[in-house]
Amino acid sequence: MTALTAKSIAQISMHEAMTPAVPTDTCGVLSRLLVLSEEARRQVAEDTQKSIIPRSTMTLLLRALRLRDPQILVHSQRIAAISSGVARLLGWDDEQRRQLEIAALLHDLGKVGIPDHILRKPGKLSSEEYDFVLLHHHAAVNLLQAFHTDASVVSMLSMLYHSFDGGSLAAETDSVPQDLPLGARILAVADAYDSLNSAKPYRRGMTHEEVMAVLEEKSGSRYDGNVVCTLARWCETEGDILFRHSDVFHANELPSELDPEEQNAIVVLTQILNVLYQFQELYDGYLILDALENYCIWSDGMPGMTGLTIQSVSGRTWHPADVQLTSMTADKTNPEARDESAVSQVLKSGRAQFTSRLCRSSEGRHFKVDVYTMPVLGTSGRPLGAVQLLRNKSGVRRQSREYVELKLAATRDPLTGVANRGQLETQLRHLLDDFHCNEGTRPLSAIFLDVDKFKRINDTYGHKTGDEVLVDLTRLLQHETYSGEIIGRYGGEEFIVLCPDTDVEAAVRRAERLRTAIMKSSIGGVSSLNVTSSFGVSTARLGDSVQTLLERADNCLYRAKESGRNKTCWEGQEPEDIREEAVLDDTRPQYLCREGQYEYHDMVDVSTSLELTAMKLQAFLREFDVRILSQEVGQIRFRIGSLGLTRRWGPVAERQPLEVELKFESVRTTSKLDGKPRTVRRISVFAISLGKVADMPSFQARCGNMIRELRSFLLGS
Ligand code: GH3
Ligand code: MG
Ligand code: MG
Repeated sequence: MTALTAKSIAQISMHEAMTPAVPTDTCGVLSRLLVLSEEARRQVAEDTQKSIIPRSTMTLLLRALRLRDPQILVHSQRIAAISSGVARLLGWDDEQRRQLEIAALLHDLGKVGIPDHILRKPGKLSSEEYDFVLLHHHAAVNLLQAFHTDASVVSMLSMLYHSFDGGSLAAETDSVPQDLPLGARILAVADAYDSLNSAKPYRRGMTHEEVMAVLEEKSGSRYDGNVVCTLARWCETEGDILFRHSDVFHANELPSELDPEEQNAIVVLTQILNVLYQFQELYDGYLILDALENYCIWSDGMPGMTGLTIQSVSGRTWHPADVQLTSMTADKTNPEARDESAVSQVLKSGRAQFTSRLCRSSEGRHFKVDVYTMPVLGTSGRPLGAVQLLRNKSGVRRQSREYVELKLAATRDPLTGVANRGQLETQLRHLLDDFHCNEGTRPLSAIFLDVDKFKRINDTYGHKTGDEVLVDLTRLLQHETYSGEIIGRYGGEEFIVLCPDTDVEAAVRRAERLRTAIMKSSIGGVSSLNVTSSFGVSTARLGDSVQTLLERADNCLYRAKESGRNKTCWEGQEPEDIREEAVLDDTRPQYLCREGQYEYHDMVDVSTSLELTAMKLQAFLREFDVRILSQEVGQIRFRIGSLGLTRRWGPVAERQPLEVELKFESVRTTSKLDGKPRTVRRISVFAISLGKVADMPSFQARCGNMIRELRSFLLGS
């Protein structure tokens, strides 16, 4: 008994295999896939040695690779040798290493379906070409699955192109691997080593030292650092077999000539790969079952949609709960029964079905999917199996690299790198769709924040520092938020955090945590800069649009500003709560040191008449024996304290010299007592140090002392 012999394929359809493959008869190709899969299943069941892949299948796949390009086979054999050696140093047993070797030998199987202009292209592939290669790789992994290859080999290969740390591109898709199998990490390092080390038509091969430098540079991000170290060790001890025995890899037991049957078999393989590639390209996930509902393929997109891994379905029978679909109107807690399911109906009737459904993800979220289920009919017209193709309609789709790059450019705020306003609104629209799909049972909240007195930061420290504040603030927000939350810059110094699965109370706690974190950290690289933000929180209601939800958050933010800044207001909040802590001091002192010159900014609000204020100020100036430097309408500049001979600040605070400038203006604020608007006289205080100051704390102590005195004169009765 053989699984995938050239003969068996030729018997299935010798004629079709020889006719040109375009246009492809999808159903015919899939029926051949199902027959081959069934043969492989039988062989695996009868195999007492529990092979990793049926032997005849393996032989044919290697032949197909060699026919495509003998260099691929040589390269694959070399990375099998490298991977196996590294794995041994890492303590893998023989069985595990055999799996790894098989995975290495087949890691380029997708290339069987890739045309020459891409396969032999000198230099870097374009984004589209890269996608094309990647999708063929996944199609090949699906093919191996259909041939009942050991699940650990399939899983290693399906993860091969994920960066070790998930990578920025992978992070944009919904399939960041949390636990990338060690086998995939070893293969990735071995693959890179051999590719860089080998000469290509357009470049020489790098030396061992050059390759290791490249790998080490990317350790921890693209490659697993531990694997890279182990590879270095392996190369030192036994890696020379690569170079000494490189000819050995040609001289295996495969005959050099293919007979016509073998050629046909390879044409069929290529056709199957092409069809699977199209499924990969057009859909987010798909599954193929045989007539008895046994799994033949569970594509690499399915785990992301359902939470079920490839291993968890391999070798078993389909169950309706594997993909939890419900109709858009029915009760979502009750998934479809077996008889109602498209799979059962299609297998029974032999007729294709197209439906829109809600699909339940592993975290219990519902999203819209288009489901296309079609029978694979044998020559007798009876279904040999079924294919179910799923397209995620909720916007979170697997995307091509170019699309992701373009999208990044169009959706990111260039200064801070977080979502821009358009992207925020798009994401919120999707979240609101989900919210409505779930009939509001899963809460959704929005936090709107605006930096307090940002204009003053720009005016005082310059626009560049202003920009740095925005960048630092974003980092802090990213650091403080959870992975499901979406951060975006809505405009100038306004940010939004979207919080799925968060009710208003939890969102207020989130906002308060962010507010406190901002207040306590030194943002903008200037230690004296006390950046604060005000927050508004709203939570979604049924019928909400992007606009209505954000408008309510903005109203709350406005209340937070009105009632004193550096605070959080939320919808449904009692007005008393607001007034109680209203009018906090928004005149936080700010300190700055520029090249040994210390600066201090502060404010004092007074409600007394202009004359009385002037009298009180004169008393202060007399008391401290200050020297007036200049005086004009609404402004006075004076020196307080005196410079000693050494120009150093002495220990006595009153004598430490400052140059102080006071500016007067009238501003409208809200009363601390009754919340009513009123006009006050605001005195802006600006001071610089004279002479040599020991450090920032002594400057702060001095200014604190000065402002206390000034306040007691101006505000005291
Ligand atoms: P409030 O506490 O009431 O929010 O006061 P504010 O000064 O923060 O408010 P306002 O809206 O008056 O000022 C916002 C300032 O933000 C005005 C604008 O110059 C500045 N701004 C907007 N975008 C940027 C930016 O990208 N970089 C910098 N440095 N400043 C910006
Ligand atoms: Mg502001
Ligand atoms: Mg603003």
